[in-house]
Amino acid sequence: MQIDKSRVVSFHYTLTDTQNTLTETSRDGDPVAYLHGHGNIVPGLEKAMAGRTTGDRFTATIAPEDAYGARDEEAVQRVPIKHLVSRGKLAAGKVVAVNTTQGQRTGTVIKVGRFNVDLDLNHPLAGRTLVFDIEIVDVRDATEEEITHHHAHGPGGHNH
Ligand code: ZN
Repeated sequence: MQIDKSRVVSFHYTLTDTQNTLTETSRDGDPVAYLHGHGNIVPGLEKAMAGRTTGDRFTATIAPEDAYGARDEEAVQRVPIKHLVSRGKLAAGKVVAVNTTQGQRTGTVIKVGRFNVDLDLNHPLAGRTLVFDIEIVDVRDATEEEITHHHAHGPGGHNH
């Protein structure tokens, strides 16, 4: 079946970036599933998926503006440790939740001080050109419920 709006796509992926600082893959587990045409995956990848069929294998290179956006240097901030939601042991690279004036956000610790911590509130993949190696495993029509929920259910999708 061909990928089209409101069809559920199961696929395997290996994700790298152009600096080779990142590798993430689904291939050591089950394929992941998403509902096409509902903004469940980054826009550039959704565009590259359109029209493909079961068994297709391809590589898609996605610029930051079609993925997680550009890095915003203003999103690197020094915040009081007491504003962190869960403290635990703080170290550079740790991902923490922080209360801000715009609600709770997720950040990556850059540096830990005595009372403050420097946090990068950018998405970890912001500013990166992403390279996806994709294999389409299955394409099926979505159920009414999936369309109402705007996501895929069952294996590789939402479980609730
Ligand atoms: Zn649901």
